[in-house]
Amino acid sequence: MSELLAPILPGATLGVLGGGQLGQMFVHAAQAMGYRTAVLDADPTSPAGLVSHAHVRSGYEDPQGLAELAQLCAAVTTEFENVPAAALRTLALQLPVSPAGDAVAIAQDRAAEKAHFVRCGVPCAPYAEITTPAQLAAVGANLLPGILKTTRMGYDGKGQARVRTAAELAAAWDAMGRVDCVLEKMLPLVHECSVIVARGRDGAIVHLPVQRNLHRDGILAVTEVHAGNVPETQAAQAVAAAESVAHGLNYVGVLCVEFFVLDDGSLVVNEIAPRPHNSGHYSQNAMDVSQFELQVRCMTGLPLVQPRQHSAAVMLNLLGDLWFQDGMPRTPAWDQVLALPGTHLHLYGKTDAKPARKMGHLNITAATPEQARGVALQAAAILGIAPY
Ligand code: ATP
Ligand code: MG
Repeated sequence: MSELLAPILPGATLGVLGGGQLGQMFVHAAQAMGYRTAVLDADPTSPAGLVSHAHVRSGYEDPQGLAELAQLCAAVTTEFENVPAAALRTLALQLPVSPAGDAVAIAQDRAAEKAHFVRCGVPCAPYAEITTPAQLAAVGANLLPGILKTTRMGYDGKGQARVRTAAELAAAWDAMGRVDCVLEKMLPLVHECSVIVARGRDGAIVHLPVQRNLHRDGILAVTEVHAGNVPETQAAQAVAAAESVAHGLNYVGVLCVEFFVLDDGSLVVNEIAPRPHNSGHYSQNAMDVSQFELQVRCMTGLPLVQPRQHSAAVMLNLLGDLWFQDGMPRTPAWDQVLALPGTHLHLYGKTDAKPARKMGHLNITAATPEQARGVALQAAAILGIAPY
């Protein structure tokens, strides 16, 4: 039915499931374009709920909350990967929902996700599903050392254990309560990168440039985006792979595909996120269309125009750790950081800083990659972020 729909124009109300920072930045983008917004999140102080025109305070499975959201909105999207797919399917009976519940369900399940990569002919890490003691016992030595990952609900490196031997693997699975897992072979990574695509109802697709990502302790720390940040062959392969993953899902919306580049130059897909992604935040200041505007355009059926990068970019994630020094609370020296040219501060309005909690990000734009990196290193030194 969606192809028959006329575009939903500014003035209409757009809904988002989830009230985190991704929802907040979606709300900002939608409001800048003249839309009204509604957020569904049980937390009365959620970052997106605080800035939205309407805030439905209910859980994702509350039929009344979903009905209220449907009543308010002309279209709905999601910002939270683990929104029950059933909630999206329920809403889709009444109004356009993108991405679809079926696509989100695949992204929520590492085993289904890997099966999809195989279907699309995009290589992923060698792996085995571990859901029974027999499967555990059958794990081949070729998958060790490896990383045991829960099939569902993992993020920011949570629900993962690095294991070197069969004994460590068994102990780690026990410690995880023997929930469904996949064991992935530990690969020799030289870079990590990601590609964000936006696919419309009509199958038209555009992409952001390849983002080079540095993770620390399983959490994204730095993203660098400029031509040459990843060798050209891998960059072209990554874009083609991301497009094929999106087409294969008949996906509508913004999709992030994360990759590993290995020491032999080969490219391996890691995982997908069915929404804007932390590694795409630089697009707010370095692209002429941000990933959040792309989300608005996809869900409303507005045209997708290939985004252009106008500045070299670095993004530094601002984790709660920066709000402490020697165990004592402090306020980071924002005034010093903002004295540096091309710095753009984004804080999500979370009042409670905790180590490893994503509190905000700093985008740095410059005419050249060297300048962007130089300013990023200065900002990192001021804030207490380790150099990269
Ligand atoms: P996200 O916050 O991106 O959703 P996640 O918790 O789903 O993260 P993954 O992306 O699976 O976790 O892994 C987190 C990080 O751990 C990766 O970015 C990479 O640095 C490292 N990692 C994961 N799998 C492997 C692997 N098979 N080999 C080597 N390193 C890996
Ligand atoms: Mg990841």
